[in-house]
Amino acid sequence: MSADLFIPRSLDEALRMVQTHGAGLLVMGGGTMMMAHINEGIFFPQKVMSLARAGLSGVYRNGHTQIGATTNLAEVSRVSDYPILAEAAYQIGGPAIRNMGTIGGNLYMPQPAGDLAVPLLAYDAHVELASPSGSRTISLEDFLAEPRSHRGVHELLVAVHLPTSSGHAAYLKLGRREANTPSVVAVGVRVVMDRQGQISDARIALGAVGSFAFRAKNAEAALIGQSLNTKSIADVAQIAMEESNPFTDALATAWYRRRMVGVFVKRTLEQLTK
Ligand SMILES: Cc1cc2nc3c(=O)[nH]c(=O)nc-3n(C[C@H](O)[C@H](O)[C@H](O)COP(=O)(O)OP(=O)(O)OC[C@H]3O[C@@H](n4cnc5c(N)ncnc54)[C@H](O)[C@@H]3O)c2cc1C
Repeated sequence: MSADLFIPRSLDEALRMVQTHGAGLLVMGGGTMMMAHINEGIFFPQKVMSLARAGLSGVYRNGHTQIGATTNLAEVSRVSDYPILAEAAYQIGGPAIRNMGTIGGNLYMPQPAGDLAVPLLAYDAHVELASPSGSRTISLEDFLAEPRSHRGVHELLVAVHLPTSSGHAAYLKLGRREANTPSVVAVGVRVVMDRQGQISDARIALGAVGSFAFRAKNAEAALIGQSLNTKSIADVAQIAMEESNPFTDALATAWYRRRMVGVFVKRTLEQLTK
């Protein structure tokens, strides 16, 4: 069976193609998941569009930071002004996956993949989406929670936008082995402290313990006004466990995932005390 491959040279051209071909067009970023599905015979697309040459790559700074949708994970792992984003990208797959896989594709991956959503939630990222009828920029949080059926079939992710980072952050991923492994749990935390060491703002993002990556907002709220000490960290880790809604898969049971939320929220917060 053969398929038509389209390689648009601009976003406008890509949008014209999605308008023309509609839902029958398979969109590919780096293709690390889509090609695997095609090779395994899971998909038989008639039409495939690669965004690799659509001019959507690169990291730009202009008051805030913009990361193009087809920026590969290796480049994201060098975005040193957002250290836990860089760290999370570096921990994805192995070198070949990081050289091909894109930040845009990562944000469409079902859990337990899609690790980048965790640090991006901790940094209050927004995503820019474009369709033939216009563009919109929404918080990553809303994007992840949005039912797929509500998204236009013609919509492409164009870029990720990050406000200037403040505070201190930490990221940890638990996998079943060192590399090329989906998350059992991924935790990203960021806290802003005042001069007395009291927390004035907090983000606790969890991955692989729900149907999409999310912020544990009760746990975040429990940190406000606290300093980081053994008791506050233990209390917050417990709340985060209660807020998670994990699933069982071939990697881990829901029971184990929930307990690892507690362990890894504790460890990430402890890192911020050092
Ligand atoms: C061996 C191996 C190890 C892996 N390890 C990890 C891991 O540790 N952590 C992890 O998170 N993932 C992992 N992955 C999954 C995957 O490789 C990465 O998540 C990668 O970032 C996906 O990006 P991509 O560009 O290759 O996606 P693609 O395969 O190109 O596309 C994935 C999905 O995103 C959609 N899409 C892509 N770009 C856009 C866009 N701009 N607009 C709209 N839709 C778009 C596609 O239509 C498709 O539905 C692994 C995969 C493999 C094969």
